[in-house]
Amino acid sequence: MQCILMDVEGTTTSIHFVHDILFPFSKDNLISFLEEEFNNKTNTEIQLALQEVAKVGLEEKLYSGQFNQEIALRVLIHMIKNDMKIKGLKTIQGFQWQKGYEQGKIIGHVYPDVPECLQEWKEKGLKLGIYSSGSVHAQKLLFNHTKYGNLQDLFDYNFDTEVGHKREVNSYKEIQKKINLPSDEILFLSDIPEELEAAKLAGFKVLQLVRAGTKPSPDFTGIRDFTEVEDVLGE
Ligand SMILES: [Mg+2]
Repeated sequence: MQCILMDVEGTTTSIHFVHDILFPFSKDNLISFLEEEFNNKTNTEIQLALQEVAKVGLEEKLYSGQFNQEIALRVLIHMIKNDMKIKGLKTIQGFQWQKGYEQGKIIGHVYPDVPECLQEWKEKGLKLGIYSSGSVHAQKLLFNHTKYGNLQDLFDYNFDTEVGHKREVNSYKEIQKKINLPSDEILFLSDIPEELEAAKLAGFKVLQLVRAGTKPSPDFTGIRDFTEVEDVLGE
């Protein structure tokens, strides 16, 4: 094994962190965000994100007439509540989270076994990577600001759904090409059986993370935390 690729939610990090911390933070800070950014034409990235939100909102019939600050608030709240996968929304959230992390209002959650194992694997010369449906920007923010310090520097790769959906075999083939190692030299860790199945079909070794609240799958070997990886693989 030369590379360990890992999922975030349910693997390195509690699912609660995303749903109980990150998403509410974004929702609770939307009013001040829009106050500052809605008419700030100098931030092109945010303006483009807002344009996309306006366009999708109109298509989804979430408003009619002129898109204004008040409507933007309503549409964005609807999109967050319904976990709509919209690039513009992700950009806006990434921007909000960046501020929150930088101001120390958000601390990236990782399970306590994660930092020591990453460090150990790194020292053994393994390549380490993240593959998450959260954007690469959001991944880097999280791992840059954990209570154990900056863990992002331990990663050689960060992948998000730009390479494809996590339940599709092709995504893992794409990642294997980018990592440029034989597929059976790559271990993928995730809590979701469908993702493990896709990675397995691409030739990866796989283990299921069975953290608190995760249902063990009968189809995959399960581990409770990262310290069990090497025992189970016998390496
Ligand atoms: Mg997961």
